[in-house]
Amino acid sequence: MSTFKAPKGTYDLIPPESAKYLAVREAIAAPLRNSGYGYIETPGFENVELFARGVGESTDIVTKEMYAFETKGGDQLALRPEGTASVLRAALEANLHKAGNLPVKLWYSGSYYRYERPQKGRYRHFSQVGAEAIGAEDPALDAELIILADQAYRSLGLRDFRILLNSLGDQECRPVYRAALQDFLRGLDLDEDTLRRAEINPLRVLDDKRDDVQKQLVGAPLLRDYLCDACKAYHEEVRELITEAGVAFEDDPKLVRGLDYYTRTTFEFVHDGLGSQSAVGGGGRYDGLSEMLGGPALPSVGWALGVDRTVLALEAEGVSLELPAATSVFAVSLGEEARRVLFAKVTELRKLGVAADFSYGAKGLKGAMKNANRSGARYTVVAGERDLAEGVVQLKDMESGEQVAVGVNEIVAELETRLG
Ligand code: ATP
Ligand code: MG
Repeated sequence: MSTFKAPKGTYDLIPPESAKYLAVREAIAAPLRNSGYGYIETPGFENVELFARGVGESTDIVTKEMYAFETKGGDQLALRPEGTASVLRAALEANLHKAGNLPVKLWYSGSYYRYERPQKGRYRHFSQVGAEAIGAEDPALDAELIILADQAYRSLGLRDFRILLNSLGDQECRPVYRAALQDFLRGLDLDEDTLRRAEINPLRVLDDKRDDVQKQLVGAPLLRDYLCDACKAYHEEVRELITEAGVAFEDDPKLVRGLDYYTRTTFEFVHDGLGSQSAVGGGGRYDGLSEMLGGPALPSVGWALGVDRTVLALEAEGVSLELPAATSVFAVSLGEEARRVLFAKVTELRKLGVAADFSYGAKGLKGAMKNANRSGARYTVVAGERDLAEGVVQLKDMESGEQVAVGVNEIVAELETRLG
């Protein structure tokens, strides 16, 4: 061990565990790639103002959780706490919305940073795969994203997750509701911070995790009773489309999210095996965000799924992913000539797409066979001077333990056949 440890609230992905993270990212991305979403990558940091405006000045993310800093050149930057604001910024900057092909559909995968109190499932550095569909108001698009996330989780073998769905209304109906909720909140016994929050962003009080607050919220007015006809019809169609797709969901009239930009469709994926860090992903519609960033009106919808918590959910359900073997063939050579011959064979196998590895470093047969075992390879090829003199190598099936001599010139073809 060195003097250094990973910073508080972070952890390293290390083989063989790290393969699970790659597989989760891949499983979430696959349905997106298959549905017209193009890959986008943005910087790990942005101007802090992008998040202040894009995520919301009064949100926990901006007030408490952001890694904001000044550079030596005097720029005010922040490590990205989430993906949507950056992706929309990049799409606007590249004028993707002017290419005449709306919605612009994008997916991303990367690291995010929040200065949170670390606990299981809550880290200061975590990883998300996300999708954004920019520039179209169409209930089928909201439905598409929910269906694709459901498909991603199911393809991983997850079963114990639930989809919570709500509508947050729009610029027409939400202000009326907001005022009604504020009236209600002013009459409650709340601490000063929460009362202040009720003035700035009353909807977020609904999301308060504390029991004493939740108890007082029992009779709170619900947005669902205030939705305008357009929002009601829109929401009804989203519900119908995902129902027709066979995706189960629960209406959650109190669901709000920790970001200010959401309008209409809002959803969260929760997993019942994760304790208090139960949200594995979330998203919704953000029709006003583009204008908040100085862009044109571009109604949009998206989600972000947490990779770390998805891995925890897999563990909670006891799902083991079928990961492809890292190594199929392991070569063990004894002596200088065998070393050269087998090294060449390994190179040849790799070119053919066979996952092959080699016993490096001077070590005896015993140590080399230990390496072969640890590699998880299905076959080991062993050769020494005597084998080569006879023009053969030894091919060992690591499952059955059976060993046969195969001609040096035939070994590559033989392995290809055996590995199918
Ligand atoms: P929570 O309510 O648990 O704080 P959130 O609403 O802040 O979650 P989002 O901003 O919607 O989360 O991010 C989407 C997903 O990213 C979450 O559902 C979760 O899986 C993951 N995520 C968010 N913050 C963290 C974190 N600090 N550590 C690990 N995963 C996280
Ligand atoms: Mg949070």
